Amino acid sequence: MPIIIDDVLFNYGEMQMHFDTKLPANRITSIIGPSGSGKSTLLNIIAGFEKPLSGKVMIDGEDMSNLAPSERPVSMVFQDNNLFAHLDVAQNVGLGRSSRLKLTPSDHIAVSKAIERVGLNGKEHRKPEALSGGERQRVAIARALVRQKPVLLLDEAFASLGPALRHQMLDLIDALQQENAMSVLMVTHTPEDALRLKTWLIFIENGHISATGEAAELLSPSGPQALQHYMGNQR
Ligand code: ADP
Ligand code: MG
Repeated sequence: MPIIIDDVLFNYGEMQMHFDTKLPANRITSIIGPSGSGKSTLLNIIAGFEKPLSGKVMIDGEDMSNLAPSERPVSMVFQDNNLFAHLDVAQNVGLGRSSRLKLTPSDHIAVSKAIERVGLNGKEHRKPEALSGGERQRVAIARALVRQKPVLLLDEAFASLGPALRHQMLDLIDALQQENAMSVLMVTHTPEDALRLKTWLIFIENGHISATGEAAELLSPSGPQALQHYMGNQR
């Protein structure tokens, strides 16, 4: 689904943000930029956790302005995966279908399928404390998957993982994106992630989008100077 960020204004106190861009449908878009530049704020506006002062978010041609987060075709995964410590893997995933865990037989089937798809079968009844960091992020991804929303937002979801695990998770997201024809937005600190998955790229600085394009082009030595600086290559 195409996502249009149409002239969105947003303020946190002194910090003024303006976002205006069109994201390609059924692809992965990486969002990179310095800490505090507004990356999470942009995701929160798309998810509906924050309201723009003006402008609007359109998803698949539909204006999201009057839709609550739960009514939007969007699910989100955070860096600290928001798992409930007292619930096991299957229950944490089940929350994606029903916030009160009132699951129908077809919900249970969806939960089992998602757990299997992220490689956690056999661990359905473990509590989060008995899982590794990578496994906990897989639970969070499975919970997003059972919601069957066409837009998936990942806010530095893999930042706490080591390189090998992060690559595994990225490859999983790549496969899931293709299987489910989702539009995925992922905030990452690591430009290499965008290159690995050959994504579209948005570069955010100080509350606005200062470059967009194919990651391979923007991150190449002939790409915008701001990105070269960000990556530590002075010219
Ligand atoms: P990023 O995700 O790129 O690190 P954020 O979108 O979280 O940046 O934050 C952008 C700016 O907004 C920062 O200056 C931050 O301090 C400020 N900010 C973020 N969340 C809030 C909030 N809930 N209240 C006030 N200011 C906030
Ligand atoms: Mg952030």
